[in-house]
Amino acid sequence: MKPVLIVVDMVNEFVHGRLSTDQSKSLIEPSIYVVNYFRKIGGKIIYLKDSHNPLDFELNVWGNHSMENDPSSDIIDELKPKPDDIVIYKHTYSGFYGTILDNYLRALKADSLFFIGLDADICVRHTVADAFFRGYNTFVIKEAVASYIDKDWENYFRKVYGTRVISINELEEILKSYNIMEKLPQQ
Ligand SMILES: [Zn+2]
Repeated sequence: MKPVLIVVDMVNEFVHGRLSTDQSKSLIEPSIYVVNYFRKIGGKIIYLKDSHNPLDFELNVWGNHSMENDPSSDIIDELKPKPDDIVIYKHTYSGFYGTILDNYLRALKADSLFFIGLDADICVRHTVADAFFRGYNTFVIKEAVASYIDKDWENYFRKVYGTRVISINELEEILKSYNIMEKLPQQ
């Protein structure tokens, strides 16, 4: 398995700003845990961040939010990317739409994408759908996502995208062999 962690829209606007909720704040701790776990095992981390231009059609639905070059679209300090991480700016829900994400995933030879962030039923969902169309295995870590409208999102993901909705414990179980493989060359 070649896993990549995708952190979706953990930006100031949704976690600390105008569109924050109690649930989005509750994701900070589990997200830090998952990001640190991926760093520990040497897995690649890709951040997606909503960075809107006034011409983006999505603003007709939501109004101005997470605008480019504004601190509201900065990734939260608690999850600040490191130099080895990849940060991809996106202009609508899916991280694949009009971005270079798929090129990077192909370059990394990734086959399994692990998702955390906001919101399970909006930006995570559309990115997972696009990942499914491109043949990636998808996993969502349930403690580290929040849903906005669809409280039955887990069922939908499993049935429609074949996604494995997993706990942090299961994540560690699934990636244990990857961890061992990565450590072998150093022994
Ligand atoms: Zn947006």
